[in-house]
Amino acid sequence: SGNATLLELRELCVSYGEVEAVHRVNLTVKQGEIVTVIGPNGAGKTTLLSAAMGLLPSRGELLLSGERIARPTVEKMVAQGVALVPEKRELFSEMSVEDNLLLGGFSRWRRGQRDQKARMQEVFELFPRLHERRAQMSGTLSGGERQMLAIGRALMARPRLLMLDEPSLGLAPLIVREVLRIVASLRQLGVSVLLVEQNARAALQVADRAYVLEMGAVALSGDAQELMHDRRIIDTYLGLG
Ligand code: ATP
Repeated sequence: SGNATLLELRELCVSYGEVEAVHRVNLTVKQGEIVTVIGPNGAGKTTLLSAAMGLLPSRGELLLSGERIARPTVEKMVAQGVALVPEKRELFSEMSVEDNLLLGGFSRWRRGQRDQKARMQEVFELFPRLHERRAQMSGTLSGGERQMLAIGRALMARPRLLMLDEPSLGLAPLIVREVLRIVASLRQLGVSVLLVEQNARAALQVADRAYVLEMGAVALSGDAQELMHDRRIIDTYLGLG
């Protein structure tokens, strides 16, 4: 499509001491796109996402809307409208659903207190289940509900790019579908998505494009639908299909 590029990683490398966990990754997310990074355990998916959020130092270049971000930090990325939902959902379990959402709005990049309520309303429209349970302590939510809350909280900051680290982890197949269907619907709110997933089938079903990460490097990339029919992807990531 002719959409503008929102995020661009150029030759991104991330090392833990002597060990390079991410090797010369080139990746783009265009405006309105859902892009997924799939790959086996230990391929470097979480490392890549953490570096893209400025949580880990990296080499190479990171650009947002064509502008290079020198030495990315979380503060810089948040200020540019990027949000991350980490694998460990990091909710405040002793606080209600509503209060967790309000905390998410606190670090928003667009100012203005008065639209807190409007943003919470948007989140509740996306996740009616959270509305039903708005007064419940988040520590007592089900796994799927906690994931919804983690995503909802990130959305309170009205990001233009939402990065998700394995939202399907530990969830039943039906809930995975529900969560990813909602992720796909974020396009309509103008939110682009970078989705890291081990569940390749579910991820390819919702994504526009995909990158396959193997041993820290991009082994394959392309249109998500096409990759679903790629013999190598089927054999390695989709099981018998
Ligand atoms: P998973 O799906 O299992 O979470 P992943 O694709 O997200 O895997 P990473 O967690 O990014 O992979 O790990 C990539 C490599 O970097 C692995 O070999 C891992 O052991 C290593 N690694 C991750 N975090 C650290 C760390 N803090 N220190 C040293 N090595 C690390």
